[in-house]
Amino acid sequence: MSSKKELKTIAPDVKWQDITEGGVMPYAGNAELFKTGDWRSMRPVWLQEKCKQCLLCYPVCPDTSILIDESGKRTDFDFDHCKGCGVCVKVCPFKAIDFVEEGK
Ligand code: SF4
Ligand code: SF4
Repeated sequence: MSSKKELKTIAPDVKWQDITEGGVMPYAGNAELFKTGDWRSMRPVWLQEKCKQCLLCYPVCPDTSILIDESGKRTDFDFDHCKGCGVCVKVCPFKAIDFVEEGK
């Protein structure tokens, strides 16, 4: 049985002895706690005016980073977890997702 240990990352107030070990799964279901969007070098940009809400982009995102609201419509990306793979950009038939370098 696993106990939920607090995950600690590098920060000025965290001692090195307390940092969560790399390569360790402290418990199941913790992926959403890791902000993997930090890895991104390319960034998708949703062009709302071109979007037809076909939702073809939604199932192809490997990081579940295309957010759907209560009415079933896509909204913006979850940039905490989008890794900028560009799959959604390729699949959109209406060119409603631009792809730019991160930081531009
Ligand atoms: S695939 Fe393109 S048009 Fe369809 S919902 Fe996604 S962004 Fe909108
Ligand atoms: S770029 Fe990749 S990770 Fe980001 S929303 Fe599109 S499919 Fe998902």
